[in-house]
Amino acid sequence: MLLIEARSFAERLPYHPHKLVLVFSAMRHFRDELREGGREVRYYQVETFEDGLTAYFEEYPHDDLTLMRPAGGGSERLQKLVADAGGHLNVVENDRFRCSQAQFDEWDADRDADGYRHEDFYRYMRRETGYLMDDGEPVGGEWNYDEDNRETPPAEWSPPEPPAFEPDETTREVGEWVTDRFDGGYDEAPYGGSWADPEPFRWPVTREQALDVLEDFCQNRLTDFGPYQDAMRRDAWAMSHSLLSTSLNLGLLHPSEVIERAIEAYERESAPLNSVEGFVRQVLGWREFMRHVYRREQDRLAGANQLDATEPLPDFFWTGETDMACLADVIDGVRRRGYSHHIERLMVLSNVATTFGVDPQVLNRWFHAAYVDAFHWVTTPNVVGMGTFASDVLSTKPYTATSNYVDRMSDYCGTCPYYKTKTTGENACPFNALYWDFLGRNEDRLRSNHRMGLVYSHWDDKDERERDAIRDRATAIRRAARKNEL
Ligand SMILES: Cc1cc2nc3c(=O)[nH]c(=O)nc-3n(C[C@H](O)[C@H](O)[C@H](O)COP(=O)(O)OP(=O)(O)OC[C@H]3O[C@@H](n4cnc5c(N)ncnc54)[C@H](O)[C@@H]3O)c2cc1C
Ligand code: SF4
Repeated sequence: MLLIEARSFAERLPYHPHKLVLVFSAMRHFRDELREGGREVRYYQVETFEDGLTAYFEEYPHDDLTLMRPAGGGSERLQKLVADAGGHLNVVENDRFRCSQAQFDEWDADRDADGYRHEDFYRYMRRETGYLMDDGEPVGGEWNYDEDNRETPPAEWSPPEPPAFEPDETTREVGEWVTDRFDGGYDEAPYGGSWADPEPFRWPVTREQALDVLEDFCQNRLTDFGPYQDAMRRDAWAMSHSLLSTSLNLGLLHPSEVIERAIEAYERESAPLNSVEGFVRQVLGWREFMRHVYRREQDRLAGANQLDATEPLPDFFWTGETDMACLADVIDGVRRRGYSHHIERLMVLSNVATTFGVDPQVLNRWFHAAYVDAFHWVTTPNVVGMGTFASDVLSTKPYTATSNYVDRMSDYCGTCPYYKTKTTGENACPFNALYWDFLGRNEDRLRSNHRMGLVYSHWDDKDERERDAIRDRATAIRRAARKNEL
């Protein structure tokens, strides 16, 4: 077996050190496990894939290689590299997903709807797999239990401590190398490799550790996953989320085993249906959906910017230095762990960037650099399609909101120096003016969208004086952000 550690890849962006440690350590552990299992493994630590392939074909001229199709498709470049090096590359189906390429394309061909709609795909997948199905009908009678899944926990609630793994010798070695090679080494990128403020590395790097995370989730966190999946708490960065994205994306776990373990918890009556269905929807629905939408639409997503947003990324995304309590805490968590949960990514980070007018492709690069679970096939559709509405490939409307949303779902606003109820004037919560200013600026594009009718009726209720004050406040917010004074 051939494995290539192509280090120049790691220099493309100022990646969070934990992302680099995770990927390289997981690769090296995989190499060792393969060898222990009796496989012959060639492992090249080189600058580029070209270097690795050249070295391999010097040892094994004219060899045939077999590669599992990368999650986002696109193996042509590797095929050419192998051919140039004198070999041949067979590409086989990627079996790390539940829905094959052919199955998704068949589902799409059978529909007459425009665009991709997750709910249709999810129901199709439930029927195809039989997961949570009973005689052709969804278990419990409903396809989803969202109504039960928008709660916030009581003050005395605290989730179990999330699992963490003490770095072994391999991980420590990778960690030292990452620090030596990458810390501060990015001349082109803002804040170089030193923007993160990492805690000790904690992510699973072997299948055994990944299975421990799955078990911990199903035994200790799954019950509360559903009701609190949209909630945010300052003292609970993981809430009851599974923390399984890195293990799924690296292939340490297969989505089928993850889904089946969660369903088993429901069948044994150790987790309620609303939590289990909510979790199955994320893994069987959203994750597979994003992968195939990216595979088919990556060219459109690559440059998408339908709202013509051109603002640079405010510095606070890198430094966390802002008085906005919600943003400061979420970004602090990203700087420490390369992670935040879904609602923080969507309704705090993407929300502020979208209403601020940040160029979606610039935001996408930040997410890629900052998150341990970021890979093109999953980050890009989430940021460009869902988070910023830069493309309408998979969302029908932007996910933007005022402080009302953050206040309802979190405990941040009570201690924030900004006033959550004020829209304009000194110390008014920035989310409020930015939200209305966003609607005003994008009226030509968004008013005709039938799902935006209600919010535009509120915009219509505002007189010109109010609208001017909103625009002034939004301008002041942007100015303050540029001076690092927000
Ligand atoms: C702006 C933005 C950027 C994102 N970037 C990434 C990314 O780079 N990598 C990534 O894996 N996920 C990304 N997501 C999706 C989601 O936020 C993460 O998968 C999730 O927060 C990971 O934490 P968890 O494992 O604790 O997930 P849980 O909340 O426990 O969910 C369980 C699993 O469902 C899957 N899942 C849930 N939602 C999605 C989704 N929208 N797309 C794909 N898979 C999903 C993940 O595999 C996740 O592990 C992004 C979402 C948004 C809004
Ligand atoms: S008041 Fe505004 S900035 Fe402060 S925590 Fe609430 S939503 Fe965030």
